[in-house]
Amino acid sequence: MLIVHKYGGTSVGSLERIKNVANRVAKAKRDGNSLVVVVSAMSGETNKLVDFAKYFSPNPSKREMDMLLSSGEMVTASLLAIALSEMGIDAIAMSGGQAGIITDGVHTYARIKTIDTGAMRREIDRGRVVVVAGFQGVNQNGEVTTLGRGGSDLSAVAIAGAIGADACEIYSDVDGIYTTDPRVEPRAKKMSYISYDEMLELASLGAKVLQNRSVELAKKLNVKIIAKSSFSEAEGTVIGEERDGMETLLVSGIALDRNQARVSLKDVSDRPGIASEIFTKLADENINVDMIIQNASSNGLTTLGFTVPESELPKAKEIIDNFDHDIGGKDFDSNICKVSIVGVGMKSHSGVAATAFTAMAKENINIEMISTSEIKVSMVIEQKYAELAVRTLHSVYELDK
Ligand code: ADP
Ligand code: ASP
Ligand code: MG
Repeated sequence: MLIVHKYGGTSVGSLERIKNVANRVAKAKRDGNSLVVVVSAMSGETNKLVDFAKYFSPNPSKREMDMLLSSGEMVTASLLAIALSEMGIDAIAMSGGQAGIITDGVHTYARIKTIDTGAMRREIDRGRVVVVAGFQGVNQNGEVTTLGRGGSDLSAVAIAGAIGADACEIYSDVDGIYTTDPRVEPRAKKMSYISYDEMLELASLGAKVLQNRSVELAKKLNVKIIAKSSFSEAEGTVIGEERDGMETLLVSGIALDRNQARVSLKDVSDRPGIASEIFTKLADENINVDMIIQNASSNGLTTLGFTVPESELPKAKEIIDNFDHDIGGKDFDSNICKVSIVGVGMKSHSGVAATAFTAMAKENINIEMISTSEIKVSMVIEQKYAELAVRTLHSVYELDK
């Protein structure tokens, strides 16, 4: 079989752990498989590099940030290839560019355009294990780009799709996808299977076990993902097409996103075009806006609320400050979080949201914002209630049963 393995930061977090990964890769190779192995930077390394840059500048050039951050993954890729060779496994490390990953030119948030698989194929055909530095590519001018935080998952899925791998196995410190983050609710249950759509919602709503763009791409390219632990032999969770009978499950998981902030704007002049102007400016700066709420206006004034990732709040503030002539009052709150319930079963059932609201009320948790789609309900609440809310919802939908 032709398999892609991806090892995340914790799995390659020390030299010993890289050795452990080398052992696992060697075993898969000796079992007769052809392998491409995608690696993340050692855990904490990317954050450390970001801090290094911040020491010199509050707003470093994005091109230079890509040069800098891509180095973390290069370190692990080369070390793993060295470790494998020493074990008698012929291996070669490649940067994203050397592996043929071509992206657009948006530094620090690049999108993969194509993958020229020639170099990887040649090496695989020679019997070598190809070790690719995740999270990076090059634009058409050969400049290094990175794919956004958590982007090694995306590298792995994109490569699996491009080379037609039989599966993309993503290894981390949990042995699969659970009904909620097992660090928050120890009673969370591991799922043996989850559909792309549900996984995409969970990932987009804060379950960082898989990067959301990687799930989106896996669905598009029909890549079978298996989420596993690099520290055990446990079965893992398969992420694939929706299966018949899955709709009997009402809610399949709870997601928590602590890294959200709320922007509330009062006395906004209610004229055509105002929302467009504000949100266009935010989009131009690549700020991901979510959960937009606008009230019915009175006396030509309205209120407008929305959430943004906490890390983008300073930039959002700057933009909002430029609208002072149109906005009476503004409030920025990063002391919030977003809890969401996800399940394809919601499509055909009513009352799912009401159950969640009642459960929150019983715990005296005030819901500040709500948004729903066919297969999810999200609520913004005060940060301090995050764990309580997750556990309450987990139990009210009987996910621990
Ligand atoms: P890596 O560094 O290998 O990419 P991550 O830290 O990004 O791994 O993802 C693994 C973590 O995701 C786990 O340690 C776990 O706490 C968290 N997580 C959040 N939600 C879930 C979930 N529903 N199922 C499993 N893990 C989850
Ligand atoms: N090292 C990068 C990050 O920390 C990419 C990844 O680990 O997937 O975001
Ligand atoms: Mg990750």
